[in-house]
Amino acid sequence: MGDPSCIFCRIAAGDVPAAKVLDTAEATAFLDIGPLAPGHTLLIPRQHYESILDVSPAILAAVAAELPRLARAIINATGAEGLNVLLNTGASAGQVVPHLHWHLIPRRAGDHLGFRWNAGRYAEGESDAVRSAIVAALNA
Ligand code: AMP
Ligand code: ZN
Repeated sequence: MGDPSCIFCRIAAGDVPAAKVLDTAEATAFLDIGPLAPGHTLLIPRQHYESILDVSPAILAAVAAELPRLARAIINATGAEGLNVLLNTGASAGQVVPHLHWHLIPRRAGDHLGFRWNAGRYAEGESDAVRSAIVAALNA
């Protein structure tokens, strides 16, 4: 199983070395090769899904179920104070590897990692239109 051209499928299968920290029937986690902080970990489904847009809900649930204990372990092991859990979807959102993965990035006060979070404001009536469009799409 798996896509032989996909680096994360090959890591899940054990065909490419990785610093694995967790292996279950549905999930694998390993250190990111280019860490934003020591302990930066990737959690992935063993099966190939490109992103959150095409993953099976049951597989997603099984993989996501590992997030709490993995997050606690990373915090305990690294001495971090918190972490960011990121799931990039699509190139415009920064997804480079087209195999669904969560980033778990250890954080501490003053680490200067930062994320640009330029909060905007809705114009009058805009949020109603956006909300209606999303609800319509959910029910389509
Ligand atoms: P994204 O930009 O969300 O697709 O993140 C892909 C991540 O995968 C990057 O942070 C890379 O450093 C990481 N990465 C790519 N190849 C490997 C690899 N062979 N082992 C571990 N991490 C990898
Ligand atoms: Zn894959």
